[in-house]
Amino acid sequence: MSEKPLSILCFGAHPDDCDLRFGGAAMMYRALGHRVKFVSMTNGDTGHFSMGGGPLARRRNEEAQAAAKIADIEYEVLDIHNGELEPNVSLRKLVIKLMRQVEADLVLCHRANDYHPDHRAVGTVVQDAAYTVTVPNVAPLTPRLTRGPVVGYFYDNFKLPNPYVPHISIDTDEVFDRKVDMVHCHESQMYEWLPYSGGRLDEVPDSEEDRRAWLKPSLIKRFGAVADNSREALKKLYG
Ligand SMILES: [Zn+2]
Repeated sequence: MSEKPLSILCFGAHPDDCDLRFGGAAMMYRALGHRVKFVSMTNGDTGHFSMGGGPLARRRNEEAQAAAKIADIEYEVLDIHNGELEPNVSLRKLVIKLMRQVEADLVLCHRANDYHPDHRAVGTVVQDAAYTVTVPNVAPLTPRLTRGPVVGYFYDNFKLPNPYVPHISIDTDEVFDRKVDMVHCHESQMYEWLPYSGGRLDEVPDSEEDRRAWLKPSLIKRFGAVADNSREALKKLYG
């Protein structure tokens, strides 16, 4: 590749958010030689029914690092409690630093229009950081970016006050199995917390192989619906 590789930085609220929303696209960018980093802005330490605090935060960080290995990306989990993320000035400065450290060209995050307070906080703080990331006297000890990154939003399903509009959609079929492998790393979520909160914990198989086989069809359904919502953009971009 003759041009400088792009630097892509994704901010999710929890350790699995970026994986679910951008894991496949991340693999495709990596295959082209671009740099991809995921940041989970909380440590996910309340995302379980029987486990919590430090042990859960450490477990979720390990899951995120295993997922990162599969996608060949960097993954940083910030040590902020789950459910307590606030889009304040100190968090904004941290986001500015993270953007500057990797010289981000493209930044992705949740929209500030979301059911989850942490997701909303990510959307707000990233938007606020993107506005000042080029200003030299904001967080002056970290060299500024000379050009603001392009900021995009992960897909979501929220309709009010304004619906998600998929302007760009990336066909990730060719890496779908690796994306399942990536999501499969988030054991505490895929096989424990999410089935528990959905009232179907008793359906989760015991062996690792059976679990992955159980996970895949649910992901096909989930991402199939995402693709259907993006059908117009996909047609426009891929024909
Ligand atoms: Zn989340």
